[in-house]
Amino acid sequence: MKQLPAENFSSLPNKIIDQILHATKEGIMITDDKMIISLVNTAFESLTGYKMQDVKGKTPRILQSGKQDANFYKNMWKDIQVKGSWQGEIWNKRKNGDIYPERLAIHTIVNEEGSVTNYFGIFSDISLKKDFEKEMEELTLTDSLTNMMNRNTFYEQLEGLIEKSTNNTEYAMLVIDLDRFKQINETLGNEVGDLLLTEVANRINSIVRCNDLVSRYGGDEFLVTITNLEYQKEALHFANELNKLLNKPFHINGREIYITSSIGISFYPQDGIEVETLIQKADKAMYFAKQNGRNQYAFYFDELQTDAERLLLLESELRKAIKQKAFDVHYQPKVSLDTLQIIGVEAPVRWTNNTLGVVSPAEFIPYAEDTGLIIPLSEVILEKVCMDIVDWRSRGTQHIPVSINIAALHFQQDDFMERINAIITKYNCSPQQLELELTERAVMQDAESIVNKLVKLKQMGFKISIDDFGTGYSSLSYLNRFPLNYLKIDSSFIQQMTELQDKQAIVDTIILMAHRLHIKVIAEGAETKEQVKLLKEMGCDIVQGYYFSKPISSSALLDFLELWEIHKQERNIQ
Ligand code: C2E
Ligand code: MG
Ligand code: MG
Repeated sequence: MKQLPAENFSSLPNKIIDQILHATKEGIMITDDKMIISLVNTAFESLTGYKMQDVKGKTPRILQSGKQDANFYKNMWKDIQVKGSWQGEIWNKRKNGDIYPERLAIHTIVNEEGSVTNYFGIFSDISLKKDFEKEMEELTLTDSLTNMMNRNTFYEQLEGLIEKSTNNTEYAMLVIDLDRFKQINETLGNEVGDLLLTEVANRINSIVRCNDLVSRYGGDEFLVTITNLEYQKEALHFANELNKLLNKPFHINGREIYITSSIGISFYPQDGIEVETLIQKADKAMYFAKQNGRNQYAFYFDELQTDAERLLLLESELRKAIKQKAFDVHYQPKVSLDTLQIIGVEAPVRWTNNTLGVVSPAEFIPYAEDTGLIIPLSEVILEKVCMDIVDWRSRGTQHIPVSINIAALHFQQDDFMERINAIITKYNCSPQQLELELTERAVMQDAESIVNKLVKLKQMGFKISIDDFGTGYSSLSYLNRFPLNYLKIDSSFIQQMTELQDKQAIVDTIILMAHRLHIKVIAEGAETKEQVKLLKEMGCDIVQGYYFSKPISSSALLDFLELWEIHKQERNIQ
């Protein structure tokens, strides 16, 4: 769509324009180039409840409902800037607080020089259309994407089964939610997301029995009711099999996609005798599985009720904390086994909240990843790290590279490099002072395009590590092509290797392989002298773990560095 030149309007008398504006049924809003509202029409006033004097001089943000996230608006503005216009459906808020759907078109008006002078939006209220669509969907029995039963049919069928059940009938209700599906949809597009959901539905269908009920409950959530349950263990077996099946790669549009799922399980009649209660309880168990690290299942238990309340609180407190930048960063030294010098530190985030107390990153990071809050959160963390680097520099402390954890969703944003660069530049820091830790899962998803991104980051001067190596899927051919500096072996291997031969063999093999690819190896989570000695014997390059130090505050780190010679002697590593 073309941008509209301003003179098309100026050739008409104002009175005529005025009459047209106020006669149309569509709401119209005109802003200046800074998005300050200068005019709205009568239809706008009756649709939104705001009078002209309420909105003049304000920005259209006054109408935001909060139902669209920052990414939505970012993409909308991208379209407006590139194509000169945007059209779509959006939820806005009336003056009385009601949220309603509207069909909106935004256009730009440009002057002779091609600069934007105004924006105008035309919209119509489509609440009635949406109600109609919903009614139509309710009249149909299946979900149009997967052909599984839709939510209503599922409810009805299960209610029917429950009515007919006898004293010793038991059912298991499973809520299956794909982990980080939002990320796939956002980075690979809705079409890939839809195809993936269809494939997931096929895999679920392939292992249910004919009497079981299966439904796509909405988005990336599926429900399975196992009927004729003889033992509760059958539900566990099913969940295990399903997780294994979904862990296998999906091949969609020539891409290899990996996903995992979190599954919550409740039982009829033990946990409830109504469909709604069973779903709610299985849902709580599913969130518990997610919090525990995803890719697993959990059964409902009564204490989860309070856990769900905590989760609600966590969400609102996390949003507030991000706005207030209320996080700390701690630093954990990494020690070279060759020179016994501290060659860098990792910077994990720390959060102490007035109401929730100390919240572990293991609890809030997965949650921030699911909600997209990880992006503003990571930027706050990067700022804190840069401020500490500036502080150390002003004290004349030795240069010490800091590694920061980068979440997959953050890394996959188109403007990831520009945004981190902007922060680093603002604090006068350089990429050479930073290392980026990415998990295996983040780089293996869409690995082909990630190679280019990593190469660029490396050229900019960042060092790159793969974190928690050994816990995800790695394709050796890509490892070879990624410009990596370090592989960090996951602490679960390090902590078990002195007891379990097979873990030791895995560590040994990873070290060998990494060295062949000219990548250095960092062992994470070493807690004992025995582990450190064994790692040294195996040729591991660097160790990070409680044996040397827990993550500590910036000022504690400065003391630690100063006293390193003494710490080193105490630990007596040759
Ligand atoms: P990670 O990146 O693998 O970080 C290492 C974790 O292991 C840290 O836990 C660290 O305190 C812990 N650790 C280190 N040495 C030992 C040891 O010897 N024994 C034991 N038992 N644990 C050790 P933490 O700080 O709780 O962080 C957990 C995870 O949360 C991190 O794992 C990382 O995946 C994530 N995370 C932490 N901070 C950030 C952040 O700023 N951004 C992002 N995206 N993720 C973060
Ligand atoms: Mg890390
Ligand atoms: Mg790690």
